[in-house]
Amino acid sequence: MDFNTLCIHGNDDKYDRTGAVSVPIFQSATFAHPGVGQSTGYDYSRLQNPTREHLEKTVAQLEGGIDAIAFSTGMAAVSALLELFSPGDHIIASDDLYGGSHRLFHNISMKNGITFDFVNTSNLSLIASHINPQTKAIFIETPSNPMMQVTDIAAVSQLAKNKNLLLIVDNTFLTPYFQQPIKLGADIVIHSGTKYLGGHNDTLAGFLVVCDNQILEQLRFIYRTTGACLSPFDSWLLIRGIKTLAIRMEKQQENATKLAGWLCTQEKVKAVHYVGLSTHPDYEVSKKQSTGFGAMISFEVDCEQTAKKILECVSVIQYAESLGGVETLITYPMMQTHADVPKEERDAKGINECLLRLSVGLESIQDLTRDLADALKEE
Ligand SMILES: *Cc1c(COP(=O)(O)O)cnc(C)c1O
Repeated sequence: MDFNTLCIHGNDDKYDRTGAVSVPIFQSATFAHPGVGQSTGYDYSRLQNPTREHLEKTVAQLEGGIDAIAFSTGMAAVSALLELFSPGDHIIASDDLYGGSHRLFHNISMKNGITFDFVNTSNLSLIASHINPQTKAIFIETPSNPMMQVTDIAAVSQLAKNKNLLLIVDNTFLTPYFQQPIKLGADIVIHSGTKYLGGHNDTLAGFLVVCDNQILEQLRFIYRTTGACLSPFDSWLLIRGIKTLAIRMEKQQENATKLAGWLCTQEKVKAVHYVGLSTHPDYEVSKKQSTGFGAMISFEVDCEQTAKKILECVSVIQYAESLGGVETLITYPMMQTHADVPKEERDAKGINECLLRLSVGLESIQDLTRDLADALKEE
């Protein structure tokens, strides 16, 4: 089945006999047993739920994995993933990570005895130089958040395979519509389903997609035991969101390309980080491994005052955390997503008072540029 068709129809299993075109929401905590020692395949919704299962199978197929596990949030997915590791294990992670993952690794995983090195994973030899006998995994985000650095997934996968390490890729920014890390050699794919998969800024969700039965069994055990599962209704919202994934990604990318080009012409804009610009340092790697560039842009303005004015003056664009939805959002990484990253680390990466991040949505491009133009104007 073609990707676009898969988005709409999902996996073929039918869970009811009524002919319902929309997958039913099985809002049931528990399921009756047909006889002693017998099960319909569903016992209790923390373990299995038909609506969630439909979603999981759909996401697994979209990413090219053998299964996907749907969590209540993206961070719940990352936390469950970290349970695969034991005290003493070492993980190499991108130094430009989603702020929540950074916080989890620093404040919870480290306390539990897992050690980390944070490096620029676009630099393969830098990754290689940090591998030690305790290293178990490489955790990357590409493009990274918020600096849009790109990591060559196939190259890192080769390195990981040679050293027997797991390669974990957070694919939230590009989604399987534009990038399929498992096909490039990744072992586990993470999603914040809250973002593009849900697509409407109305639901929190997270996924782990796997391509190995043993890892799947371990993760399912962790999942059933710790219980951060996605509810039947939220599963349905994600199923509905995914139906329009392909068309949203195309149009949001088109808007982002235009907006990035426009930003480059603005006097007060000093730098634009968008992987779809041919001037982006990782443009060629992006073109090689992804079929698109997505709709995330970060840009630097001339001073803090301009940055704050934009945040306060935009009206079509909303100053709000999160990304990936139909509404265009602007954030201030320094004060929001990356507030917990120490200042020196932030400064070193360029996450400073002049940096803004845009998640470009589906509004008319004229309204978006006018909104930013007005906010950039002198009084
Ligand atoms: C938002 C986000 C997460 C966390 O997901 P939640 O659904 O907010 O818990 C993880 N990784 C990336 C890249 C994200 O953007």
